[in-house]
Amino acid sequence: ATPIAILVGTGRGAQLGILVTGPAALESAERIDTIALDKTGTLTSGLMSVTAVVVAEGEDADDALRRIAAVERGSEHPVAHAIVAAVGEGPVATDLDALPGRGVTGSVEGVRVFAGRPALAAEEGAALPPELAAAVEEGEQRGTVVVAGWPDADGVPRARAVVEIADTVRAESAAAVAQLRALGLEPVLLTGDNPHVARLVADELGIDRVRAGVLPEAKVAEIAALRAEGRTVAMVGDGVNDAAALASADLGIAMGGGTDAALHASDVALMRDDPRGIVTALALSRRTMRVIR
Ligand code: ADP
Ligand code: MG
Repeated sequence: ATPIAILVGTGRGAQLGILVTGPAALESAERIDTIALDKTGTLTSGLMSVTAVVVAEGEDADDALRRIAAVERGSEHPVAHAIVAAVGEGPVATDLDALPGRGVTGSVEGVRVFAGRPALAAEEGAALPPELAAAVEEGEQRGTVVVAGWPDADGVPRARAVVEIADTVRAESAAAVAQLRALGLEPVLLTGDNPHVARLVADELGIDRVRAGVLPEAKVAEIAALRAEGRTVAMVGDGVNDAAALASADLGIAMGGGTDAALHASDVALMRDDPRGIVTALALSRRTMRVIR
């Protein structure tokens, strides 16, 4: 009877827009007590837009943004889509290198350009001039911030621009979080983005536990830490930066509009880009397991 009940469960799942990749997903779903949620693209729409560009003294904002877009054309991150959309058509960088959870680098007209989270500038050996440091601090109160730069004539890396990017919380996220809580599950926000914007989103949705500024490896460590507390943890994410955490959780759930990397690392895929599907998937799995017993 077991295989038939699971097939019925997964068939119903398909009707509800939930793709279950195997019985293991149904079995662990019942024990889940903690849900780690990615922010960008999971709780927020991931349809980001550029709201401000601040450049270092002597730089031209349009030229800087054009160079940044050239490297972002090689990235599938929502931040990259926002920057490319703001610029439109333009050259594509060569020697592109995606740094999941950190940013991207590439060569534009023979110049190596970096663009990523503010910490990437220091990692690239580029100090932030005071006007850019101020722009980062101000921008992080409101949204996501990208710092970009390239070397000067002497080959010394320089931070040149700060791009401020806005995202919107999905209309369905508050209901999804409330329903998860009603099921007795504790939501935890896990994001690579800065702590200020993470807290804004968490407060809007009623999430107490927040871990921000976490790189992909640190997302895995956070899942491990939650499991070490005796929790059974589901992780929900959409990005390349979430793949390792999705694979390491007791249950990995990929958002519908997510990247292939996230889909491949998951046990359940939501075909619709709606976080309420998390609740439906868990409820369906619990019901299916009750039928089996
Ligand atoms: P989240 O966990 O919220 O999905 P990520 O871990 O993907 O966020 O990204 C963390 C931060 O790294 C972003 O907020 C952004 O500042 C920076 N970042 C990531 N990818 C890129 C990129 N392609 N270009 C610029 N910045 C990026
Ligand atoms: Mg994401």
